[in-house]
Amino acid sequence: MIQLQGKGVSKGVTSGPVYFFRRSDATVTKVENADPAAEKARLAEAQEKSIEQLNRLADKCREEAGEEAAVLFETHAMFVEDEDYVECIMDTMESEGCNAEFAVQTAGEQFAAMFAAMEDAYMRARAADIRDVTTRILNNLMGVIEGGIDSEVPVVLAADDLAPSETLQLDKSKILGFMTQGGSGNSHTAILARTMGIPAICGLGEQLQPAMEGSVAYVDGETGTVTLDPDEPTLAAFEAKRKKQQEMKLLMQTMKGQQDVTLDGREMMVYCNIGSPDDLSAVLNNDGRGIGLFRSEFLYLKASDFPTEDAQFEAYKAVAAGMKGKRVVIRTLDIGADKQVAYFDMKKEENPALGVRAIRICLNRPEIFRTQLRALYRASAFGKVAIMFPMITSVWEVRECKRFCAEVMAELDREGIAYNPKTEIGIMIETPASIFVADALAKEVDFFSVGTNDLTQYTLACDRQANDLGRFFDPHHPAVLRALKIATDAAHAAGIWIGICGELGADLSLLETFLAIGIDELSVSPSSVLPLRAAIRKSTARTCTLEKLDC
Ligand code: PEP
Ligand code: MG
Repeated sequence: MIQLQGKGVSKGVTSGPVYFFRRSDATVTKVENADPAAEKARLAEAQEKSIEQLNRLADKCREEAGEEAAVLFETHAMFVEDEDYVECIMDTMESEGCNAEFAVQTAGEQFAAMFAAMEDAYMRARAADIRDVTTRILNNLMGVIEGGIDSEVPVVLAADDLAPSETLQLDKSKILGFMTQGGSGNSHTAILARTMGIPAICGLGEQLQPAMEGSVAYVDGETGTVTLDPDEPTLAAFEAKRKKQQEMKLLMQTMKGQQDVTLDGREMMVYCNIGSPDDLSAVLNNDGRGIGLFRSEFLYLKASDFPTEDAQFEAYKAVAAGMKGKRVVIRTLDIGADKQVAYFDMKKEENPALGVRAIRICLNRPEIFRTQLRALYRASAFGKVAIMFPMITSVWEVRECKRFCAEVMAELDREGIAYNPKTEIGIMIETPASIFVADALAKEVDFFSVGTNDLTQYTLACDRQANDLGRFFDPHHPAVLRALKIATDAAHAAGIWIGICGELGADLSLLETFLAIGIDELSVSPSSVLPLRAAIRKSTARTCTLEKLDC
């Protein structure tokens, strides 16, 4: 029996074969004197495979994200066979006697450079499409696996670490659990695992070895233990825990349809955090009363170029309409720090968590911000959308955001496009600055939502990504809890509601403290809704105390 100990970051037990994530880091090398006929045949096969994949993606998009996104993939499929592009590849193979990979890469670079130099902004933006298609053909030539997993059966996915963009590309139906050498509980990859309801363990370090591939891993996302080849008592204990988990799930079903009210009648709004319209079914299955945080940047992380206004509108509309009049808080894009997107072309920063991220990008690059705001306001005609701005530190930022909102609404009026002019506007409270000026900020907006992941990071000066800060990264620290109290008092003095959408919201050991502080809403991953409801219904708000705020 082998046991590895890491940090459990998404609860639940699961078992399955270990599979190591295949990263597409294959580099193209030039092979001289290649056999032209064989290389042409390889190219034809890779083109055929690419077209098949793109058509499949187009069909999926048509069902899930609307026509415009589908057309994009169809255009990519057509480009795979574009006469000029293919002629350029063939010419290179023939004139240089080289392998297909080198010829495809050369043609891709030439065409992308040609488009990037064009006058017209639309045509310039097509350079990204060409790079995307070229990468797809190259991946198929080199046998790189799309989505990182090539397995018929679901697996326990192992990796050194996973970037949020990599996690988003994975085929969820193939994943039973995650285990990584690095990572931290507050990284967006761990947050995604919790949203998907998949057990996950991080920080396993060197104990996790590629030689383990194929062995059956027993993963306990609560204790952070991975067991290979368990002895009988360990296996029995694991199976007992799995059974208990199933029983608990069944018991929690009885919470569906129940009120989120304490024994003495205090209501807490229990909402969900999501990252894409795909998560809507989990919200509905777990009876979430609203969506307290839709991390819209995940739409950008999944894409290979800026999502258009229409593509975003379709995604927001699907969620707004699907929630049938329940509140859907959509956060404007929060790119930066660990959420990096190549096509944003951002300068490398020494301290990205303190750099040009989130609202700072939007205020510096209004064309990106306006596109998103237009999509959000258009979606507001189809449900109860609320717009939320991340990483706020100052009143002027909020006023500038509201000015953009007013401009976008005026534009939609002129164009005769429907929207809800009463769309609520809120901000995330996740910087110490926003706590200190919470009273002034509260007068500007309709609600606050506390991002405790970043608030903890910035208040305690502890990197949320680092997995070796241990006890120093402490979201229970009185400084964090007092900050919550200050923000809550400021919100209530101004007559607005306040919620928590950071991971701390699901921490049942703090529920009484949140009730005592006066928090109005907790937004958690869908799988945490029913256990949270059960805990609220057993609490008595009147007897809750603020003692955890003491040092
Ligand atoms: C937070 O910081 O707590 C939050 C909810 O936002 P994110 O985790 O996406 O930074
Ligand atoms: Mg945050």
